[in-house]
Amino acid sequence: MRVDFDVVIAGAGPAGAWALKHLPEGVRALLVDAGNPLESSRDGKLCGGMLTAQAQALLPELPSEVRAEHFKTKLEYHDLDTGARARFPVDYANCYRSSLDRWLLRQALDARGHDADCFPRTRVTGLQSEEKAVRVRLDDKHEVTASRFLDCTGWRQVSRRALAVPTAPYYHALQVGCILSSPYPYYIAVFASKWTPFFGWFIPKSESLGEIGAAFESDRRDPPLEMLAPLAKHLREYGLEFEPGRIRGCRLTRPAKDSDIWLGQGRVLACGEAAGMVSPSSGDGISYALASGKAAAQTVGLPVEAAPAAYHRALMPQLAETRRNVIKARLLASRRARRIAGVLLPFVHRGHFERLSL
Ligand SMILES: Cc1cc2nc3c(=O)[nH]c(=O)nc-3n(C[C@H](O)[C@H](O)[C@H](O)COP(=O)(O)OP(=O)(O)OC[C@H]3O[C@@H](n4cnc5c(N)ncnc54)[C@H](O)[C@@H]3O)c2cc1C
Repeated sequence: MRVDFDVVIAGAGPAGAWALKHLPEGVRALLVDAGNPLESSRDGKLCGGMLTAQAQALLPELPSEVRAEHFKTKLEYHDLDTGARARFPVDYANCYRSSLDRWLLRQALDARGHDADCFPRTRVTGLQSEEKAVRVRLDDKHEVTASRFLDCTGWRQVSRRALAVPTAPYYHALQVGCILSSPYPYYIAVFASKWTPFFGWFIPKSESLGEIGAAFESDRRDPPLEMLAPLAKHLREYGLEFEPGRIRGCRLTRPAKDSDIWLGQGRVLACGEAAGMVSPSSGDGISYALASGKAAAQTVGLPVEAAPAAYHRALMPQLAETRRNVIKARLLASRRARRIAGVLLPFVHRGHFERLSL
């Protein structure tokens, strides 16, 4: 069998870009993405654009076009179940998500030079893993073969579907970009079990722009405006004045047990959200995407039989963290645990914790 590429990477989000960037020298790679990640679009990926400390540690310094105006901001939590409201510093970096993705991809393409082909607006529509290579179907029209396939297709989890591996559970997330009438510089998380099993959020991007969103049960299909209305009303009561744009929705992967994470098999490795790696407590997925994309790329030079185990080993810290976050998600869903956290937080953030009235 003729093998066209050493590796095909599907998806040019953080996982795909970071995989491409970290491939061993001389590896012939093809990166495909269903969209055009290098193009600036108003309707970019649905995301809060908050980078955890882990994500920040995996990245070089972010350029100014990626940083949101409120790059470092305090968290304000509103817990409607326990009647608590407080503000304290968190180690998140606030960025513009589409600028981040474009910047990551540009770095990866610069690092690869002539070793990589990049096909935008090209969708992987089929996948067959054979003894000598993987056959990758593109746009239901063409076929390429590769020694390895890295699935970085996010919540679409293309390889799981193609190889009949059950997909991970998910929330149905909604988010809407808003024009603010007056600036509000804090990131807000609203816990209210009567509205959402997760939490609702407001993320300030600039003096005049912000994002409002929440996640819901996967089978909930009420009109989006109706689902977000209680959160919007609550935020208005607490001083936010805004004009919402178009509400958009997509899946937010939510691993609940070890088997919801699938790192791949044989010649196919899954990275980032395609592997099911998203924090079920906070919805953060970028750090896992970066770490797993890099780790998968570093296995491409190994014999096929050794790659999945090496990949698994390299991701031990992230797998342990996901397990901790599964427990954290359970605690966050419990009023009692949140009430206890409300007692402990002032000690954790001593001197920086402001209790506010709700
Ligand atoms: C509402 C919301 C808010 C979020 N907020 C945050 C946040 O603030 N911080 C954070 O860390 N995480 C956040 N996340 C999670 C985060 O966005 C994802 O976990 C992260 O983008 C995963 O990166 P990835 O590279 O694995 O996949 P993605 O970034 O989803 O990239 C997948 C790429 O694959 C492409 N693709 C899909 N199917 C195909 C196909 N068949 N063929 C070719 N290409 C394909 C897509 O076009 C896309 O570019 C949020 C998620 C949601 C839904």
